[in-house]
Amino acid sequence: MTGARQTSGTTRAPGGPATPLQYVKGIGPHRADLLAKKGLATVEDALFFLPLRHEDRTRLTPFRALSVGQTVTCEGTIAGVSPPPPGRARAPLVLLLKDATGFMSVTLFGGRTYLARVLKRGQRLVVHGRVERYRDRLTLQASDWELVEGGDDERLHAGRLTPVYSTTEGLGQRLLRSLMWRVVEAYARAAPETLPDALRARRRLIGLAEALRGAHFPDTDAQRAAARRRLVFDDFLLLQLGLAILRTRTTRARGLRMDPRGELVARLRGALPFTLTRAQERVWAEIRRDMAAPYPMHRLLQGDVGSGKTVVAALAVLTAVEAGYQAAVMAPTEILAEQHLATFRRLLEPLGVRVALVTAGVKGRERAARRAAIAAGEIACVVGTHALVEEQVEFRRLGLAIVDEQHRFGVHQRAGLRAKGEQPDVLVMTATPIPRTLALTVYGDLDVSVLDELPPGRTPVVTAARTEAKRPQIYEFLREQVAAGRQVYVVCPLVEESEAVDLKAATDTARRLQTEVFPDRAVGLLHGRLGGEAKDEIMRRFNAGDVHVLVSTTVIEVGIDIPNASVMLVEHAERFGLSQLHQLRGRVGRGPWKSYCILLMADHLSEDADRRIQAMVATNDGFKIAEVDLELRGPGEFFGTRQSGLPEFRLADLLRDGAVLEEARRDAQALIAADPDLRAPAHAGLRRALLARWRGKLDLASVG
Ligand code: ADP
Ligand code: MG
Repeated sequence: MTGARQTSGTTRAPGGPATPLQYVKGIGPHRADLLAKKGLATVEDALFFLPLRHEDRTRLTPFRALSVGQTVTCEGTIAGVSPPPPGRARAPLVLLLKDATGFMSVTLFGGRTYLARVLKRGQRLVVHGRVERYRDRLTLQASDWELVEGGDDERLHAGRLTPVYSTTEGLGQRLLRSLMWRVVEAYARAAPETLPDALRARRRLIGLAEALRGAHFPDTDAQRAAARRRLVFDDFLLLQLGLAILRTRTTRARGLRMDPRGELVARLRGALPFTLTRAQERVWAEIRRDMAAPYPMHRLLQGDVGSGKTVVAALAVLTAVEAGYQAAVMAPTEILAEQHLATFRRLLEPLGVRVALVTAGVKGRERAARRAAIAAGEIACVVGTHALVEEQVEFRRLGLAIVDEQHRFGVHQRAGLRAKGEQPDVLVMTATPIPRTLALTVYGDLDVSVLDELPPGRTPVVTAARTEAKRPQIYEFLREQVAAGRQVYVVCPLVEESEAVDLKAATDTARRLQTEVFPDRAVGLLHGRLGGEAKDEIMRRFNAGDVHVLVSTTVIEVGIDIPNASVMLVEHAERFGLSQLHQLRGRVGRGPWKSYCILLMADHLSEDADRRIQAMVATNDGFKIAEVDLELRGPGEFFGTRQSGLPEFRLADLLRDGAVLEEARRDAQALIAADPDLRAPAHAGLRRALLARWRGKLDLASVG
């Protein structure tokens, strides 16, 4: 805290950060109620209720230099107050201000009676707003104003870097800003420091008290930047500390040592019609090493669609089985669970490994029998949906839990599956390539393996964007492809508000394709309302080549693997998210044939939709796609941070602050390595902040 701008007398700091806001001088119960609507109950809540932005109102423009359309800040003396026009008592108040260069009319909105009472001739006023022409005269329409009182150089609303907060009904910008000023003035100084001095010195970070003051009411841009850097660092450090603790918990825990001779693995390798890619070999070695180690594996396997994750997963399952344990594979949807079931059966059952399915769709006696077999250890590999984490499913000896497409599950579901065994190894697989900054955050508690190489012989998918006018030519192209022996996906968007409408759109499309385009071919329809058996039947027929064109809602999004299907037509491509489009495209290009993805789009696109389609046409690289998607959607949307079970950031921005993230991550790891439970006196503040930030989400038995 610089101290230079502190006004005396008004700043008193009774109580600590937990003080309810109503006891802050100048707030009281009524205003405290208003603040409560913003979720602000205590002094601490308010201190960390950071402005959306700051407006630079430091530069004062002389009246003579004003012209229409400018947004400016000016200062002058009130030379006159116009009376309201006859019969319009509620008209805005118009003042005449004078500065060294001339006069200016200023229009103020808001309660006229109140304004006329506080604004008197001779007073000095700072106003901020836009210069407009009104009846042939210039007037400054003030969005904010402030009296400059004698001897008081403290400005809140104008004439400074002015914070702009998120307002709410009954709590306008001026009032909110004034209340925030009171809290910051009275309490920021007393905010207990959380970072150890040595760390602050090394990273050149300002103190928390100074940072809070600078984040709300900075005097200069440099102060604001330093404040931001400090608070962003805190966001990242507290997250990374929590993640580091979760990790050491895993590596310190006693896990299963699964280190069989590897006969089953060798037999599967021998039976595969291909050899593993270098990337698959590397990743498999990493997983194999984790499984053999005496601590629980906690690893993320990341690989673009078609990079061959499933085979690697199968090797892990076989290793667990040969070591005498069971394996569970959890998928996010029934259709994907079924797809995995089919794949794992094909790969594992010839080796004598029993594979069974557990989903909500498996019911009654069948379900009871299956559960009994799992509990008895007769079924070695269990594939399922989140039904797997239901309490009734009990394993005899769960050694390996594989979670597919983890971005759809939260940290808690992952933990739920882990709890089915005693420290089983956990392998999380995702086909959504994640930019490094995000991976460090979201998967910060996992080791990461990346399949960064596609199996050989894949030709990149040709992607084209077309408008409705080209539909006849597109259909002609589809006919040619089918005539050449290929199969076609036609994907219709899901508009989640109305399943009935979606279904009708897909049904109409299928009917039209059947009657008008492919009268001599089989057109199938796959959608979310079909029962499990009906879905299976269609997929089986498509797989067998008996269905040539498969019209589908987005249920085919992930995991479906039919090499002969080499063309995909996406209807209303502008309605899909970017990652979703990329996942869809991954369904083609799986065989030796040249493959195509045609994006049929509306004539007029929003800017975002246009960028999504451009990105799809420009690249097949999942990592590039993911970066664009992250930019377009922001991390919260991209990953669904709210469901992830991780604490939210107060200020940090993964796109903007990647460098700070790396620093904080290194520091967090060093801190936890040196003082795993943060018990050193120098770490007391950090430990308190950590517990507060993670609330119940981090079970800090060893820290709390
Ligand atoms: P992912 O799950 O990563 O999307 P899959 O495991 O489904 O990818 O593999 C995609 C296709 O590639 C499957 O048909 C699989 O049999 C095949 N495949 C996997 N690994 C290889 C490899 N090393 N060489 C050739 N084909 C492979
Ligand atoms: Mg797969």
